Amino acid sequence: MKRVRVLFLLLNSFAGAQTAGTSAPPKITYIWCGTLYDGKQDAAQKTVTLRIVGNKIDSVRPNTKSAEEKGAEVIDLSNSVCLPGLIDTHTHVLLQGDITAEDYDVQLLKWSTPYRTILGTVAAKRMLGYGFTTIRDLETEGAGYADVDIKKAINDGVIPGPRMQTSGRAMDVTGAYPILGYSWELRMPKGVQEVDGVEGGHKAVREQISNGVDWIKVYSDRSYYARPDGVLEDIPTFTLDELRAIVDETHRERHKIASHAMALNGVHNSVEAGVDSIEHGNYIADADLKTMVAKGIYYVPTLYVGEYVAEGRAAAGAKVWLDMIRIHEDTFRRAMKAGVKIAFGTDAGGFAWKINPAKEFPIMVKYGMTPAQALRSANMSAAELLGMPDKIGSIEAGKFADIVAVPGDPMADVEQLQKVNFVMKDGVVYVKP
Ligand SMILES: [Zn+2]
Repeated sequence: MKRVRVLFLLLNSFAGAQTAGTSAPPKITYIWCGTLYDGKQDAAQKTVTLRIVGNKIDSVRPNTKSAEEKGAEVIDLSNSVCLPGLIDTHTHVLLQGDITAEDYDVQLLKWSTPYRTILGTVAAKRMLGYGFTTIRDLETEGAGYADVDIKKAINDGVIPGPRMQTSGRAMDVTGAYPILGYSWELRMPKGVQEVDGVEGGHKAVREQISNGVDWIKVYSDRSYYARPDGVLEDIPTFTLDELRAIVDETHRERHKIASHAMALNGVHNSVEAGVDSIEHGNYIADADLKTMVAKGIYYVPTLYVGEYVAEGRAAAGAKVWLDMIRIHEDTFRRAMKAGVKIAFGTDAGGFAWKINPAKEFPIMVKYGMTPAQALRSANMSAAELLGMPDKIGSIEAGKFADIVAVPGDPMADVEQLQKVNFVMKDGVVYVKP
């Protein structure tokens, strides 16, 4: 196996060396930004020239509007505010909104994986159009490893879309995850890979990584109810031993693991086992917030989707979803106070793709963040969670040319982040004002 990999690397570098000798010099583009927030400092810089060479940022020059080479392309954003490309660390491009169980079942029972993948390519394109140049897609909900294929199609230049990190099928224990509730005589498709036992955990991680995922995703809890004292209770899915086995094998293979954990026990087991990110985290006990700080575990709160699904799910009889909004706000405020690292994530796909996921920003601000903090969660914080702080998340020489622009100052009006009118990813312009 090792030998095959070495050979593959050699062939790759050989191909690279050949094309380097014959291809044209990289394209040079100048972007004139009226205002720049570079993602490193909170203060605005006025009248900045970005020089882009190929797919990289070559230089950032303050107080200038320049273009040295004749024939280089100049993009004039003098009336706009430039920002690093946005990063959403929790999406589902293979999902088209699932307020009710019926919405979900239709997608798994009536739509083929090829059809869902076609819709997924449209979702990816929309995401790029909204200004999200990188996403971490957190499981396909029954569509196998179609996320790995969408990522490949984007990387090969077949379709437009953000840079992607994928997680394939995700894992839960037997009988805990939809599709549920049909006759026991029917073998229903599942939204996850069902995994049980320590050995089962090791094997499932190996299988998923061999199929090309970047991340492992587990569901750590289910069946929520709000206690009178404001604690959100749950049934943990995996035992702590099972969870530890999955986490250890993931890390042994130098990958990372995200845990869907919305309530008391699921979060506790996840932070004890040492996952890399807590997804949703509607309720997190103070002691677990402390452990998250100590271990450097990220919190990806996904606030907007809770408000979006609450009305529908409450109308269908599950009132707990309304309680969860209040509990979530309290947890978010406590997490900020405790100094937990927070990365921007929305659960897009859990709500319809025609809704701009940047609706998450105003809720973060409503719950106590400054616009600068909210923006940082979708820039450098997210880049760090994704293990790419040297490549994305800020506008600096040497990083990928992932640049977006909005018409007004997002520090004064965070709603501006829903009005992205320029998108460059990897040095290629996808949206122009
Ligand atoms: Zn999700």
